[in-house]
Amino acid sequence: MSKEQSTIHEFDINLICEYFASIERQGPGSPEVTKQALQFVDNLTKNSRILDIGCGTGGQTMVLAQNTTCNIIGLDLFPGFIDIFNTNAQKLDLAQRVSGIIGSMDNLPFDNEQFDLIWSEGAIYNIGFERGIREWNKFLKPGGYIAVTEASWFTEQRPQEITDFWQNAYPEIDTIAHKVAHMQTHGYIPIATFILPEKCWIDHFYELQIEVQEPFLQKYKGNKTAEELVAYERHEYELYKKYKAYYGYVFYIGKKI
Ligand code: SAH
Repeated sequence: MSKEQSTIHEFDINLICEYFASIERQGPGSPEVTKQALQFVDNLTKNSRILDIGCGTGGQTMVLAQNTTCNIIGLDLFPGFIDIFNTNAQKLDLAQRVSGIIGSMDNLPFDNEQFDLIWSEGAIYNIGFERGIREWNKFLKPGGYIAVTEASWFTEQRPQEITDFWQNAYPEIDTIAHKVAHMQTHGYIPIATFILPEKCWIDHFYELQIEVQEPFLQKYKGNKTAEELVAYERHEYELYKKYKAYYGYVFYIGKKI
């Protein structure tokens, strides 16, 4: 990339981060669902260590912190999200045992068998579910848990429009049965799976975006990236309302053998 191109690219990324930083979560989820998934994880103590990969601004991380006594590291690629994460941890008086660091999920800066629990909501798709659960396994202690959310098909047959959309957005989307089979193959006992309720997408994600879209478009009037981003998010919401019977996010909780 030329310097000019990379500057443009950085500007785009900063713009996208600014948009998503203005809402509480950067993907579908809710405090209730985070707590529900946490109930399947046994044996956490104040000496346990949790790693939250692709933590964003830390919406779900703070819920984990408030419902455990563990030490928690949140890791995300984008420095702007980590700044907000650490500010939030301080505001909530959690900074002593919750810290955000910048890093990439495909090159984690940790020794093997360091964590009792690896968490990742709405983020593993960045390297793909199968690669993620395979590569992250070594960072878990034996008997440690993994809990991730992943876009999944609910049915074997789907309308063409939604199949095409996902083939383009994330071809690794698959049925719950296939995802569970991957967990089994890559060294985990499948402990639980459950489908995130629709309100995780509608109330906690798309509706929150509606409130920030117009001010964002005004601020970046005429900016192509800003316009395309908002148009894409609006399109995604329309598709979700139309086809939510066929797909959604699923929590997958596994235990390392
Ligand atoms: N877990 C948060 C954020 C989900 S959005 C929530 O549920 O609200 C996906 C997150 O993955 C974003 O914060 C994005 O910055 C992060 N991300 C994307 N690629 C990444 C990578 N290679 N390594 C670490 N984080 C990454």
